[in-house]
Amino acid sequence: MTCDVCHKNEAIIFQPHSGRSLCKDCFFNDVKERVRKEAEKQGILNSRKVLLAVSGGKDSLVLVDAISSFISASRIVAFNIVEGIGGYNRAEQAEKLRKYMETLGVQLVSTSFKSEVGYTLDEMVRSSEVKGMNVSPCTFCGGFRRKLINSAGILYGTDLVATGHNLDDEVQTIMINLIRGDLSRLIRLGDVPIKVSGKFVTRVKPLRKIYEWETTMYAYLKGYSFQEVECPHIVNKPTLRAKVRDLIYSLEEERPGSLLKILEQFDEISKKIKSNASFTELPRCEICGDPTSYGRRICKNCELLIRSGLLSQEYQKYLPMS
Ligand code: SF4
Ligand code: ZN
Ligand code: ZN
Repeated sequence: MTCDVCHKNEAIIFQPHSGRSLCKDCFFNDVKERVRKEAEKQGILNSRKVLLAVSGGKDSLVLVDAISSFISASRIVAFNIVEGIGGYNRAEQAEKLRKYMETLGVQLVSTSFKSEVGYTLDEMVRSSEVKGMNVSPCTFCGGFRRKLINSAGILYGTDLVATGHNLDDEVQTIMINLIRGDLSRLIRLGDVPIKVSGKFVTRVKPLRKIYEWETTMYAYLKGYSFQEVECPHIVNKPTLRAKVRDLIYSLEEERPGSLLKILEQFDEISKKIKSNASFTELPRCEICGDPTSYGRRICKNCELLIRSGLLSQEYQKYLPMS
């Protein structure tokens, strides 16, 4: 079968959401063009400098590959975080990442939970277990990663920080926040980013319209050597996210293109809400100074550290009533 776009090469990929069969090159071009459109809306094309969070996983490699194909490498800082997860953060993986960024001419900077927070993720998880907290490792991981990415954006003077979240991740997050009724988080998820604190570097997700199977295929066809070892904590991923993922996959299987439609509809609704809303500056955490949610004295990260006994007990007085 020949490619539905160039009508020359042999098609090797069927894209259920578009109903087209594509050759390798047209598939790469299609993904890059969709990323470029999203990046344009998010302000990446006009930004002076952008920080790309790279874990070494397939999504982050696709992110750097796509973005560096339409903005100069000198405007990109790739940022890697070593969480401190036994068996997962491996030296040879970091070396592969360094070499790959070198081939693209992109500056790579690295940091770790241990050096920035004082504890590895494994240490945080162990302490929380000792205290009998029922908190998923991913809650620690996600919160501190966001904190470090934002700090790096400030440190390296970037206008934006971009992560490699794909369409599947984004729709899961929308559904979870809908189920929880978390309006303040929902409102931050649209395609046009909003700034709710002068201390937040605007976060964008250029791959938010690319299916996860597409980033996997892209990485595979490019021959990337990406982080294939799964994080050992994946089995403890929050159950709601796992349930939502199964639900949206069965919907997508029955009606290809459903995830894209959900996201596009959500973006429309979110635009309307934002045009009528005014956003007040988020309060600051009284311990670390980072922005926190409305009505809170401290941020979620500091709360987690206090509850797991890793921050001085004198801070107990800041804990919200539970
Ligand atoms: Fe972090 Fe959870 Fe992902 Fe592991 S599975 S890297 S703990 S978010
Ligand atoms: Zn083609
Ligand atoms: Zn804090």
